[in-house]
Amino acid sequence: MSTVAIHPVVDNVIAPTKPDFAGGTLQCLCQSDKVEIRIESQTLHNHACGCTKCWKPAGALFAVIAVVPRDKVSIIAHGEKLDIVDESAAIQRHACRECGVHLFGRIENKNHAFYGLDFVHTELSPQSGWSAPGFAAFVSSVIESGTPPSQMSAIRTRLQTLGLTPYDCLSPDLMDALATHAAKQKGTYHAA
Ligand SMILES: [Zn+2]
Ligand SMILES: [Zn+2]
Repeated sequence: MSTVAIHPVVDNVIAPTKPDFAGGTLQCLCQSDKVEIRIESQTLHNHACGCTKCWKPAGALFAVIAVVPRDKVSIIAHGEKLDIVDESAAIQRHACRECGVHLFGRIENKNHAFYGLDFVHTELSPQSGWSAPGFAAFVSSVIESGTPPSQMSAIRTRLQTLGLTPYDCLSPDLMDALATHAAKQKGTYHAA
């Protein structure tokens, strides 16, 4: 039986996080006139994502996506090629209209729990040392992109083997952050 392919970044050896890594650049996949962004920070919460919205390289079952403070992200080349994939989505994904790669996803709703964070794919970087993927989110959603439900058990087993604990929404840390934000808005938040 062949191994389930998750994503090229995690299918073989996952590159380790470099302790003092302070950022780098991401480039789209165009042959020339590449859209390029600079990130002046290490990324956080890097993970495999099975949702239907995140950009995935050809043939990958999952995306690999991390967050970074939005004030650390700047466009340094060919921003004129960027379009927002869906203006109405909570995360506005800025994609190269020629190659389709998403350079960064940005939340413009100031009331959103994750406002202030951009979503990025560090596999697009020529540098190494970015935070390594640590879990898998929205695993069941790969069924929505065409995966037969009968394969889910093998997919979850493979993710566990890779050290990417599978969750069907976000990780407990991030779900707690969402719920904390909701509690603060409702006035039901208790710090201790
Ligand atoms: Zn491109
Ligand atoms: Zn996603």
